[in-house]
Amino acid sequence: MNLKSMTIPEIGAILKEMGQPAFRAKQIYTWLHKGVRSYEEMSNLPRELRQRMAEQYPIYAPNVVRKQESKKDGTIKYLWQLADGNCVETVLMRYHYGNTVCISSEVGCLMGCAFCASTLGGLVRRLEAHEMLDQVLFTQIDSGLPISHIVLMGIGEPLDNFDNVMRFLELVNSPEGMNISMRHISLSTCGLVPKIDELAKRKLQITLSVSLHAPNDQTRNTIMPVNKAYPTEALLQACRRYYQATSRRISFEYAMIDGVNDSVEDAKELIRRLKGLPAHFNLIPLNHVEESPLKPSSKNAVARFQKTLEDAGIPATVRRTLGSDIDASCGQLRRKYTKEQEHIGE
Ligand code: SAH
Repeated sequence: MNLKSMTIPEIGAILKEMGQPAFRAKQIYTWLHKGVRSYEEMSNLPRELRQRMAEQYPIYAPNVVRKQESKKDGTIKYLWQLADGNCVETVLMRYHYGNTVCISSEVGCLMGCAFCASTLGGLVRRLEAHEMLDQVLFTQIDSGLPISHIVLMGIGEPLDNFDNVMRFLELVNSPEGMNISMRHISLSTCGLVPKIDELAKRKLQITLSVSLHAPNDQTRNTIMPVNKAYPTEALLQACRRYYQATSRRISFEYAMIDGVNDSVEDAKELIRRLKGLPAHFNLIPLNHVEESPLKPSSKNAVARFQKTLEDAGIPATVRRTLGSDIDASCGQLRRKYTKEQEHIGE
């Protein structure tokens, strides 16, 4: 395992075998979580130890291959190159409550949602914990903007990479590290029911976001293949169990797609099915993806849908589109870059 993916006790165990005192573990951990690029920067470590560590546990940091900044709203999108050459995206959004990074959890995605650019090339591999941490860390360093909030809503399905994501949460939340509060972290899933139950057992204070996008199986089956494995009723039951275990309100994401899931009837069906479950809806006007025939709902349809939910006591916000001038929706930048590279290779 990469040293930056390890906890302080785990680093301590390695140092013990090297005959080093225990307190060095915290020193090294703190340096790594400051984003140093080499052991040479760890000025309070003996030279000899720095050299040994550099040989045995080289430090990797991602490189910026593309950086785009929105002129409209200051959103910054990074395309990072990882140690093995793969690329992932991170988006920095500036909200009134704090700077928020949207990070990727996998290179590509297995889930096959019809409207999503991240899944077009399938799954390449899952990210390790430090590769998620690095996205937060180096976005903060490169932009010079302190990060207070994280959303796991970039490329990939976080619950398909469960153990590494749990490890990442522990690292980024640690007081000796970035110390980002669990309450400032949202994890978004397409609805892997057994993993939602596993997550509930951890009783974390994070927000669970569920990509619902449809009120019933008939519609959801046409846009989200995962629904065949975990149909809407099973998913909503898992959400109820999650709420019982954590007392955390579920946040539902709902991409508004013209003529597919945006009628008042659809909203009414949701209201019936969610009865008694504390929830919040995030309505996202669909971002058009070149390869897909699906179109965003009209402003009127979105407003009607929102009003129907709110009249029934379900809070619903329409997500502001940030970075629309910089391909800032899921997987679009990586997709573009990969296609360009393929083109160069031809
Ligand atoms: N795999 C996770 C997290 C990544 S996607 C999940 O499915 O939740 C983050 C959110 O963006 C999801 O709700 C996803 O369905 C949505 N999304 C993906 N492509 C989109 C698009 N073109 N327009 C609007 N929302 C999109």
